[in-house]
Amino acid sequence: SASLYVVATPIGNLEDLSPRAARLLGEVALIAAEDTRHTGRLLRHLGLSVPLLSLHEHNEAARVEQLDARLVAGESIALVSDAGTPLISDPGFVLVRELRARGRRIVPVPGACALVAALSAAGLPTDRFTFQGFLPAKGGGRRARLEALAAREETLVFYESPHRIRDTLADLATVVGKRRLVLARELTKAFETFLDGSADELLARMEADPDQARGEFVVMVAGAAPREEEEASVVEGEALLAALLAE
Ligand code: SAM
Repeated sequence: SASLYVVATPIGNLEDLSPRAARLLGEVALIAAEDTRHTGRLLRHLGLSVPLLSLHEHNEAARVEQLDARLVAGESIALVSDAGTPLISDPGFVLVRELRARGRRIVPVPGACALVAALSAAGLPTDRFTFQGFLPAKGGGRRARLEALAAREETLVFYESPHRIRDTLADLATVVGKRRLVLARELTKAFETFLDGSADELLARMEADPDQARGEFVVMVAGAAPREEEEASVVEGEALLAALLAE
């Protein structure tokens, strides 16, 4: 039956497009793309010519009926964003939610995703992590969000742009102090870099080498040290036991 394929595309290195993704992009009747010019370039690289339709945060809701009608007519559709996995800090959530509610077939075609690539090579714990997408753009909102997360014990993961990376590091220095950070920059691209250290140390690195502040970033923050709660409950338990024994 006709399907919506949610297709991950490369985050820099075009070799990261899977053969399955390339085949499906060539087989669908229509590709819904965040930016049709951007995806047009990818299609030319693949030697494909497939009709494109823009789907971004401002027209996503309005596109639902149009795309659903195509599916009902038996035409399969691919959803792609500019880079990486659609819906991950990218458009597509409203479309997928609405089509799933209508019982349409929705098929993930996995591939590159910056947060997973970053975590896979950072050396921070990955058994539990919290992905927070982009922090609020304004300083007050950003610090409030960081403060709300500061006590979390799992690794924290954020997306960040070159415009705000220094501000975010400065706020992290205030909120999480000397905790270890890993910055993954320009993943899969020519200037891929992993930097490791406290927020202050990373800011100093950018001060010394402004190129380190360029490109796209995944910011990973070590979780807070486990709280004293367990210790406290052991102490309470011992006190209770002593009291019971005394009885
Ligand atoms: N959907 C994408 C994904 O699956 O990763 C993310 C899209 S989001 C609009 C763009 C952000 O993802 C960038 O600002 C950056 O934080 C991160 N990102 C994307 N590509 C990256 C790369 N090659 N290296 C580091 N971070 C990247």
